[in-house]
Amino acid sequence: MSIAGGVDKAFLRGEEVGCDAMQIFTKNNNQWRAAPLTEREIRAYKTNRQRTSIDPILAHDSYLINLASPDKDLHRKSLEALRIEVARAAVLEIPYLIIHPGAHLESGEAEGITRVVEALDTVLEDPQASPVMICLETTAGQGSSLGYRFEHLAAIRGGVTRRERVGICVDTCHIFAAGYEIRDQRAYEDTMRQLNGVVGLDHVTCIHLNDSQRDLGSRVDRHAHIGRGQIGLEGFRLLINDPRLQHIPMILETPKGEDPVAADRRNLAVLRSLVGGS
Ligand SMILES: [Zn+2]
Repeated sequence: MSIAGGVDKAFLRGEEVGCDAMQIFTKNNNQWRAAPLTEREIRAYKTNRQRTSIDPILAHDSYLINLASPDKDLHRKSLEALRIEVARAAVLEIPYLIIHPGAHLESGEAEGITRVVEALDTVLEDPQASPVMICLETTAGQGSSLGYRFEHLAAIRGGVTRRERVGICVDTCHIFAAGYEIRDQRAYEDTMRQLNGVVGLDHVTCIHLNDSQRDLGSRVDRHAHIGRGQIGLEGFRLLINDPRLQHIPMILETPKGEDPVAADRRNLAVLRSLVGGS
């Protein structure tokens, strides 16, 4: 949900759309720097949060951050930016910060994974980080992005010392584009079995519900409206009604178009219409 005009404004938009969970960027997602949150902003945020009772709130990190980068300067900058993201989430009492594992830029997946582990160890050592859980998101595997195999996320989480502070965010568009089929019961169960076996369903802290413009295994990340992409309604029906996932917050990252309120309402309505359906 957009934070244009201030972090507190997201709640008004969320309320208008009818969400009961919400994801925000806590700063401009295409800039490294951000002015610190003022007391006034924090107060307005907490007031609106209480009034709308949208819960939980999740944060997503900046797209510039690349913890897997072999470039020393970019890696250092990314680490510092992640620290700031975690601190902002902590101030806003946001329990989950979702991050993309990063791109190894042809330095190799194993090396990239090692760099992400080191970065997370450094950030999670910081006492300021303690209430915030960092959630590694599955990716479509575009370019040299890590995270298109559940094994990547398991290796990162398993390598981190304070792994109780590391969760997993499953994005339906990304896993599908990465080659995990979910469009029929059998395939869905098989994908869930792999997810559970490799990372453990207990560690899945958030789910992003997006349809995919591109086909299974395309490794291209293009989100589509629910039911209007290559996944289609059945995959979402299976997921929405999966009793193992009922406690996990689910977030839409579908295209906003010219009328974001109408687009979000429509996608939410489609999802809600699938509850209990067969
Ligand atoms: Zn996502």
